[in-house]
Amino acid sequence: MEIHQFIEQMPKVELHIHLEGATEPETVLRLAQKHNQRLPADDVPGLRRWFAFSDFSHFINVYMAIQNLMQDKEDFISIVEAFAANRAAQNIRYSEVTVTPYIHVWQEKGITAEMIFNGLEEGRRIAKERYNVEMRWVPDIPRNLPEPAASWTAKTAIAWHEAGAAVALGLGGDERGAPPELFTDAFQEALRHGLHSAPHAGETMGPESIWGALQSLGAQRIGHGVRAIEDPGLLQYLKAAQVPLELNMTSNIRLGLYPEISQHPFPHLFRMGLMVTVNSDDPPLFNTSLTNEYKILVDVFGFTQEEIEQVALNAIQSAFLEADEKRALQKAFRAEFTRLSNAPGETQP
Ligand SMILES: [Zn+2]
Repeated sequence: MEIHQFIEQMPKVELHIHLEGATEPETVLRLAQKHNQRLPADDVPGLRRWFAFSDFSHFINVYMAIQNLMQDKEDFISIVEAFAANRAAQNIRYSEVTVTPYIHVWQEKGITAEMIFNGLEEGRRIAKERYNVEMRWVPDIPRNLPEPAASWTAKTAIAWHEAGAAVALGLGGDERGAPPELFTDAFQEALRHGLHSAPHAGETMGPESIWGALQSLGAQRIGHGVRAIEDPGLLQYLKAAQVPLELNMTSNIRLGLYPEISQHPFPHLFRMGLMVTVNSDDPPLFNTSLTNEYKILVDVFGFTQEEIEQVALNAIQSAFLEADEKRALQKAFRAEFTRLSNAPGETQP
């Protein structure tokens, strides 16, 4: 089977994906009509153009507009359902999905944590039943908002974890002016209650932010972490401890971290032996998908099928699943890789 076809059909796991930022224009349009809200475009192609990333402040504007359309439990159900359909289409069997509950409640527009939770969980049940896709939530602290953003999110994440729905506490937003050390209490509290620690670090700030996340937040996985490439000592540490990095290539290019995709450090980090995973972050906003991110590894960096399989297996290894769940997934993925390799392609290379 031809390698692009293999990538499209192979089973996948995704660990860095924002629910709000993964809302496709079709769903955005439907919600805008339902709530009688005007957006800068009133059809799908127009919305796609409006989504098209120009700079960080435009990105935030679009993000806020999308998040403003989520106003009741039904909205959360339908967003998760559309998300699950997209997972199924890409054969993404398991996702750890970042969601930012505080952003929906802090302006007191009548949305409650309970309403969000019930909507998300109903959506997750439908995802499993209708699409056979599994997901767990990673509630994240919006680091640029004032308290009680951090303590409220930690408390909420703990409650969701106790209900079997959340696996980790996250930390998102712009790292500039919001270093990890400010969130020590929230993460310590979450860790004490059995949650994992998965903050964003090393995206808009450099290695010092990753060190801070490791030392102050007990980070067990780093959201992005790409800028570890700037610090040989940090690279050595991350390799020795096999701390997983959730890399998002297209997102990094759109945000201007590197001038073009061929200069992204993904292949260096992989070949150095770090535990790297491939992810899509906010796919419609960056005009990408998880499948597309895997294709970049082949088309731009010349990855072989064997290396692609290794990256896909890294995501299982890096997931916050129990050891027996990981073994079962690894076994299923390996069997599927073999089956696909032996299957005749629709078009021969
Ligand atoms: Zn992110």
